[in-house]
Parts: sequence; C-alpha cells; structure tokens
Amino acid sequence: MDTIAPDSRLSKPTKTFLSHQHQLLIDGKWVAAASGKTFSVYNPATGAVMAQVAEADKEDVDRAVRAARRAFDEGPWRKMTGSQRGRLMWKLADLIEQHLEEFAEIESIDNGKPLAVARAADVPLTADMFRYMGGWATKITGSTIPWSAPNEFLSYTVREPVGVVGQIIPWNFPLLMAAWKLAPALAAGCTIVLKAAEQTPLSALRLGELIQEAGFPGGVVNILAGYGETAGAALAAHDDVDKVAFTGSTEVGKLIVKAAAGNLKKVSLELGGKSPTVIFGDADIEAAIPGAAGAIFFNHGQCCCAGSRLYAHKNVFDRIVEGVSGEAKKIKVGPGLDPATNMGPLVSEEQFERVTGYIESGIEEGAKIVTGGKKAGGDGGYFVEPTVLTGTKPSMKVVREEIFGPVVCAEPFDDADLERIAKKANDTIYGLAASVWTKDISKAHKMANLIRSGTVWINCHNVFDASLPFGGYKQSGWGREMGGEVLANYSEIKAVTAKL
Ligand code: ADP
Repeated sequence: MDTIAPDSRLSKPTKTFLSHQHQLLIDGKWVAAASGKTFSVYNPATGAVMAQVAEADKEDVDRAVRAARRAFDEGPWRKMTGSQRGRLMWKLADLIEQHLEEFAEIESIDNGKPLAVARAADVPLTADMFRYMGGWATKITGSTIPWSAPNEFLSYTVREPVGVVGQIIPWNFPLLMAAWKLAPALAAGCTIVLKAAEQTPLSALRLGELIQEAGFPGGVVNILAGYGETAGAALAAHDDVDKVAFTGSTEVGKLIVKAAAGNLKKVSLELGGKSPTVIFGDADIEAAIPGAAGAIFFNHGQCCCAGSRLYAHKNVFDRIVEGVSGEAKKIKVGPGLDPATNMGPLVSEEQFERVTGYIESGIEEGAKIVTGGKKAGGDGGYFVEPTVLTGTKPSMKVVREEIFGPVVCAEPFDDADLERIAKKANDTIYGLAASVWTKDISKAHKMANLIRSGTVWINCHNVFDASLPFGGYKQSGWGREMGGEVLANYSEIKAVTAKL
C-alpha cells in the first residue's frame, strides 16, 4: 500500500526517519523480515497509512532469540561491569533527550496523543527511566545469610541476570513502555528481544537506532515489529527464552501464561484495570474535580490505571458530576499535532469500535450520558468525545470491563463505613490502582489500607516516578514494574553455601 506524504508540520528529522525503510533490529543489524513481508502503520488522526514496517514472524523471532542467546552466553555484555552497563544506559538517556522533539512527534502521529503531552511526559519519563535504572546496575546485590549452625557453614546469595528476555509491549505509551521493559532488564544484565505493538512500532524502532549509537553490543537488544498472534505468540512460547515480560490486556496476559508453560519460563505481567476514584464529602472539591477528570481523560483513557469508576459521596455527587462533565466539555479533541488539541484520536479503528460499542452497551443497559458519547473531530480519524455516564449499576458491562477509552461511570455512595466503601472500590476482578480524595488524613490512610490494588493515590491520580513500584493485585498482573522491585523480574537468586 502507498504511504502518504508526511504532515508538513513535522520537523526535518522526523520526516527523514519516516522516509527510512523500517526494518527489524536483530544482532546489531537492521534486516528485512525473513518472509519479506511488511505491514502498514496508520495515522489515527486521519486513518491514512504513514509507514510500512517489516513484519516479524516466527522465523524472525528465532533469529532474534539466537542473537540474544549468543550475546548473553558469549558476548562482551556478560563480562561488562554494572558501571559499564549503567554508563551505556545514561548515554542512551542523553541521546533520547537530544532527540526529544523527534520522539514527541513520532509518538504523536503514531499513537495519536497530543504533541505537548508526548513532549512533557512520554519522552522525559523515558530518559528518566534509563537514568534511574542505570543507577541500579551497580547496586544489584545479594545478602549474607546467618546460619543456624554459624561455624559449620557460610552462606550468601548472589543475584544473576535471568538470561534471554522476551518483552511484549502495548500501544498506549509506546516509547515509555519500551523503557519500562528495557531499562531494568539491561540494568540486570539480561539480553532482550522486544516486540513493539503493531499499532505503534515507530518509536521503538527509532530507539533501536539510538541503542546502536549509544554503543550497546550487537544482540543485547533486538527489536521486532509484528502482530501479537504471530510474532508475540512465538516469542512468548519460545523454548530458548528464559523470561517473558508482558504489558497489555488481561485476556492476552492469560494467553502469555499458557504459551510460557512449555519451558516454564518466568513470567511478569502488567495487565488491565478498572480503577476507582473515591471522593469523600470532605474532599477539596476544587482539586477533586480536575483530579477525577484527569484520572479518566489523560491519554484518552488509554491507561491501564485510568480512574474509570468514579464514586462520590451523595452530598457532593452532583457537584462532582457537573464539574467533571464541565472539564470534559473544555477538552479540545483533535489531531495530536494541532497545538490547540487536549485529546487526540484513539489509537486505531478497532479501539474506536470497542469504545463506542461500550458506550452503546451502557445506554442499552440503562446508563445515562451526562456528556459526550459521540464520535468527535474531523473526518477519517478515530475521535471519541470524553464521556461521563451516570445511572450505572455494578452489574453493567461498562462498570465491570476495561473500556480503555475516555469513558467514566459515576455512582454516588451514601455511607460512612470505610469497609463498605472500600468493598465497592474493590468490586472488580482488577487491582491495579485507585485514588482516594479527602482532607481527613486518617480516612485517607485507612482507605489506602483497605483497597486491594498495587497503587493507591491520595488526593492525586496518575502520578508516576521511576522509583515507585507499579503493578497489579488480582487479575491486574504478576510482579512489579519500576522501582527496585522490578529487578526481581529480571534476576535469579543463587544461594551459595560453603562447609567451613
Ligand atoms: P490491546 O487489546 O490493548 O491491543 P493487547 O493485549 O492485545 O492489547 O496487546 C498488547 C501487546 O500484546 C501487543 O504488542 C500485541 O501485539 C501483543 N499480543 C497480542 N496478542 C498476543 C498473543 N496471542 N501472544 C503474544 N502477544 C500478543
């Protein structure tokens, strides 16, 4: 299929990158797919094809895993010190910052997000992640274990890299998710085959070029673009992959677990969510309104921790709903490259159909649209209005299932019992995140204790730092991303015992 000329608003470096042949990074070289096939990448703001990318399949996964295995077993990487690995990661972070504008543009046209958001969040957080994890490379230690018979044996533990890691990432923060995966694995000394999401492969491929420029030895990071059912499935099932790390839907997470069973590779999963935003009657309402709106509308609701269930005390419920709806109406929906845009298109036609389908199902089941609910923006793109639903019931699909779009279900509560309020917040198969809004610090911390999720925010939502572990209870996943905790995903512990 022909690709259209790049948008005239893009900078020269981005246009140059788009004009490249987009290939796969295997063993330090850019190569075509073994099948010679390519697939189309679409601009979600227009629906037009903007690039053709080599389509990896099983044979390419095999090639990439062979390269990663060789780099792990025989390459210079294994002998490099933590400080050398850290230095390479910092160099990469510097390069990412030097190309901030280009990455922000690529992210905006590929994913649809506003350029200003990619500039302020996605790209700097990516550089931060490599810097933070680069620091960990020299701090991965074991411990000395006091024995019950102290003078007979001496035992200590060491942490070793788990080996060849397969990483499969989603399209909502394409570059940042690559960093969340690559950075800790590199700090731990693993070698990697990363598969980008088929909707948004471009920033990972550009990152691959900078990984080469930074000087990582060939085969340490291999980057593939391709579909989940083919390349992704082959990577998750590969017998020579020691560990698979996945971020995406809970449904696919379960397929990853099954695929990994063949060689019992280690698995970590960062999956879906249906996160509650709980606003008490004593909250700072002026802060809670934009907070609850940002919780669901940031990144078009395409966040696994989006605050998609809004519970507010009946005394403030009407004000909150009116306020959040007012915030929704202020959001200018449009192409990511337009400086006036606050919310871009959804990532794909499939996602557009999914989100609008959920809105329809909510109406069919008796929910009321307070604002939004319709297609928005210009022709061709996958734009949806930010939407607030009320009158929802706990049994409805819109309340139970992850929509992954800018749709919030608001319900009042009339209760002072924190256990019962927390029960509502916990009434989901997921357990990724929650936010609690109150001026009462005891209530806030009691709620933090009662809510079963990997993150609880107090008087804020969607706040991240490279140093904070992130991940899910229940069906939101296994293991944690970020912080020191993520290193457990990428290392094995060895206990060494000597008879004295
Ligand atoms: P979404 O539904 O939001 O697109 P997915 O969970 O389907 O999210 O996709 C996240 C990532 O998982 C993508 O890189 C996708 O290609 C990959 N993927 C999808 N299906 C499979 C599968 N069966 N095996 C391995 N990876 C998959």
